[in-house]
Amino acid sequence: MGTENQTAVPLDKLKSVEMILDPAPLLSPSILKLCQWAADYYHHPLGEVLLAALPKLLRQKKSIPEDIPPVAIEEKHSPHEALLLNRDQQEIIQAITTSLDCFSVNTIDGVTGSGKTEVYLQIIQKLLDRNQQILVLVPEISLTPQTIKRFRERFSVPIVTLHSQCTEKARLHAWLAARAEKASIVIGTRSAIFTPLPRLGAIIVDEEHDPSFKQHDGFRYHARDLAIWRAHDTKIPVILGSATPSLETLHRSFEGRYRYFNLPERAGGANLPNFHIIDVRRQFLEEGLSQTLLKEIGSHLNAGNQVLLFLNRRGFSPVMLCHACGWMAECPHCDMRLTYHLHPKRLQCHSCDASMPVPQACAKCGDQEVTFLGMGTEKLELALQKHFPDTPIARLDRDSTRRKGTMEKVLKDIQNGVCRLLIGTQMIAKGHHFPNVTLVGIIDSDYGLFSSDFRASERLGQLILQVAGRAGRAMKPGAVWIQTHHPEHPLLQLLTQRNYQQFAKSLLLERQSAALPPFTSLALFHAEAHQAQDAEHFLNHVKKIARSLDQNISVQGPVPAIMARRAGRHRLQLLMQTPHRQKLQQFLRRLLVSIENFSTKRRIHWAVDVDPVELT
Ligand code: ADP
Ligand code: ZN
Ligand code: ZN
Repeated sequence: MGTENQTAVPLDKLKSVEMILDPAPLLSPSILKLCQWAADYYHHPLGEVLLAALPKLLRQKKSIPEDIPPVAIEEKHSPHEALLLNRDQQEIIQAITTSLDCFSVNTIDGVTGSGKTEVYLQIIQKLLDRNQQILVLVPEISLTPQTIKRFRERFSVPIVTLHSQCTEKARLHAWLAARAEKASIVIGTRSAIFTPLPRLGAIIVDEEHDPSFKQHDGFRYHARDLAIWRAHDTKIPVILGSATPSLETLHRSFEGRYRYFNLPERAGGANLPNFHIIDVRRQFLEEGLSQTLLKEIGSHLNAGNQVLLFLNRRGFSPVMLCHACGWMAECPHCDMRLTYHLHPKRLQCHSCDASMPVPQACAKCGDQEVTFLGMGTEKLELALQKHFPDTPIARLDRDSTRRKGTMEKVLKDIQNGVCRLLIGTQMIAKGHHFPNVTLVGIIDSDYGLFSSDFRASERLGQLILQVAGRAGRAMKPGAVWIQTHHPEHPLLQLLTQRNYQQFAKSLLLERQSAALPPFTSLALFHAEAHQAQDAEHFLNHVKKIARSLDQNISVQGPVPAIMARRAGRHRLQLLMQTPHRQKLQQFLRRLLVSIENFSTKRRIHWAVDVDPVELT
């Protein structure tokens, strides 16, 4: 990137400039630097990184539009006033606002409802007073109308949003407004980290632990980590807020590398919910529901309150089984069972999205006695309708909210109290404020305790607490009931009897003794091919080169990925690991140069994932 007067490249290899699209460069020096660093760190081609940083409409051979429509500022009859802060909140604001002109990473570890958002809002006010811009990053599913409304009700400044529901045109306008300093606050999901903001004063990453900040294919960057880099480069504070901070962030905070603030109590007087564990071993379960939980649901509904049930599995049933021979319906392209869906009636693969009609009989022996095992949200809904026929039910998952506008409608029904029984996947875990929910039921907490992904228990704990955080947020006390087959599990005990910090500390000890992140740096080398041995052969070769380059890097594999086959391809991986981040970077650079010269006969898709957050 850049220009040169001289070159050693032969003339016939040079291309001529066809057209100059824009008189001034599209990307500012600061965004270019960010892209360059990201391309380097994630070992991804710079060209693709630059494209990812631009709105789609600017990736074409067209000049930048000259006039940008103004950003509407909502008319406010009575703008919401800032709240009187409690001591803990004051301390955070004091610390951050007295060091606005230098780089700092600030972790706000505060339980749900502890007033983190209020802290963000008041810091934003200080920055607006200084005529600066603010970037707020949020996970996709928590960028709800409610979240945006809270910002709009507080500030009379132009606010733009950037997320997957935006039309390309809206996205372009938001990007241009930010770049032209016509938007003061940008609220966006992962890719908004690349928004040009000439007067950027701070970056806020809300729910910083959320895995959706990491891109899972192509350019595999982590928006939170880029936010930290960008804040460092711009010499401004970055704020990482969460009720359940990632182990990476907690570890660095405990080590003193980040400033750490704790908000252990709910602001505004609401109490944290009480936890109860339901031992479901040997208990009679009606469609997955224990008598204890059914009784609790009944009494909370009778008291006129709302009940929220969390089940992180959409569809009707995850297993279609032949009672005669044991055959199970599997996706023809993946190592994955097909999920039976009722509306519309189909079998669906939740890995590759393949969808097919439901067979009338077993595909193997032809017997007609097929059964459906396990439970998804659709089945849970039916079961509850049977038990509580007079209570309207709202279901929030990817299927029930597919049509535009349905999500808003369901949320409204919940807010108005039209629906008092709510069922949902992780979609309900975040961002929503349901003041009348007094009971949260976790239908199945066992899946995360025994997964082969080393982050599964961290995720489970985060998810349980996020969902639990929906209970009793207003003046009514809340209760959380968790069904499990492993009531004595130490992690479940820590989580429910102590707090997230104790839970996280125990996980950190485990990670340390297993030499896993955040105590080491990881890079995952993926390879996929139609024939498993092609991918294996390729990875063995990579491993040989790796060994010859640096013996201090531990290289494990090749092993099949957790999802060993997806969309017709066999997937294998090598895990590269070292306590030294810099060393891993240097090593990867040399390794990738060596691999570029190595070609295989068959088509192999391969990629490197630096700091992977999922091992699937
Ligand atoms: P979080 O972002 O941590 O979930 P919020 O900022 O949304 O917490 O605050 C939770 C509730 O408490 C909100 O209704 C908010 O208006 C209220 N709240 C926050 N700070 C205060 C305060 N200092 N005094 C009174 N109420 C507060
Ligand atoms: Zn059969
Ligand atoms: Zn599939």
